[in-house]
Amino acid sequence: MLGAGAARVTPSGRPFLQIPGPTLVPERITRAMSQSIIDHRGPRFAALVHECLDGLKRIFQTGGHILLFPGSGTGAWEVAVVNTLSPGDRVLACVNGHFATGFARTAAAYGIELERLDVPYGDGIPADQVGARLSADAAHQLRAVLVVHNETSTGVTSDIAAIRNAMDAAHHPALLLVDTVSSLASIDYRMDEWGVDVTLTGPQKGLMLPPGMAILAASEKAITASEKARCPRSYWDWTPVIERNKRGEFPYTPATSLLFGLRESLLMLAEEGLSNVFERHARLAEACRRAVRALGLELLCRNPAEYSNTLTAVRMPAGRNSDEYIAHAWKTLNLSLGVGLGEVKGSVFRIGHLGSLNELELLGGLAGVEMTLKSFGVDVPLGAGLAAAEQYLVSAT
Ligand code: PLP
Repeated sequence: MLGAGAARVTPSGRPFLQIPGPTLVPERITRAMSQSIIDHRGPRFAALVHECLDGLKRIFQTGGHILLFPGSGTGAWEVAVVNTLSPGDRVLACVNGHFATGFARTAAAYGIELERLDVPYGDGIPADQVGARLSADAAHQLRAVLVVHNETSTGVTSDIAAIRNAMDAAHHPALLLVDTVSSLASIDYRMDEWGVDVTLTGPQKGLMLPPGMAILAASEKAITASEKARCPRSYWDWTPVIERNKRGEFPYTPATSLLFGLRESLLMLAEEGLSNVFERHARLAEACRRAVRALGLELLCRNPAEYSNTLTAVRMPAGRNSDEYIAHAWKTLNLSLGVGLGEVKGSVFRIGHLGSLNELELLGGLAGVEMTLKSFGVDVPLGAGLAAAEQYLVSAT
């Protein structure tokens, strides 16, 4: 018999992986990945590569070059930096959270000088301040602007179109390098329309795949910059990748199974329709935010125009540690929530609502949040969050 407070984790049923990525992998993708490895220099593989590259262009909304590497989002930061910049270059690093800090740190590791635009956790990057910094740089020493579209540590989405407009208004030629690890294929993102030079992402969030790839898109301006860029690079050099991709090959042994999965993921996204995918994420996100507020808890993101549609970062009530709460949620209900990262470690927990997710699954996760907060000792009104989310989902068609 279970004693009071004992773990109730059961291997039965669907695991509630409610972190902001990796997300659960749909069965269709798992099945697509469970096939025999094919010759990565043969015609079947070449067809697979072309399908993946073409499909990704539609997701990035770009006519530029797609770059795939076995790796992760962290590796993709490095690809963006080493292919476009040289040691001693100055960049404007927009820093509003843990992942933006990591992107900036990657550039610094290659001898890039950082001019930091620091904003508090919970805020987006103010386009007017980007514009002011660039206007002040009359000699055009800033070679690039680094920004994270959706800061996964805070649940804040920055306005990339506004940042582009500010750069244009300042008549500044800096490259725009954007991290979309937790937004691509979930939140509207228009690489060409917004004049982005390098976009980077990973497979384990909106693309619904297991982790294991660095995925990027580069504009012609970025490709031209790479011809002059002098950062040391070998594995992350995108020139041989672009060259060999023309023949449907890679300069290394590719992650064939992930490419099988990627093809299926791109098919699924096309079947649902990208605008419907964005709309589904917006709807689930709003339901989640209403649930959180109805429980009497606060969001970390301050500005409603910057609310993230892929995750919600929630402030832990005063005097409570979010790491301990998250451990409790896992131990009691096998519910995985995202931990607080960087400056908000221990004071924030994050609810992921991205990738392959529907309304009932979100409600299941929210029920888990309510139940585990209550059993952790936070005095929440059981059912209030669910009622608010259900009310919204029923009324908003
Ligand atoms: N950038 C953002 C916005 C992220 O959310 C993450 C990971 O969650 C990364 C970069 C790093 O990606 P990875 O963990 O795949 O290396």
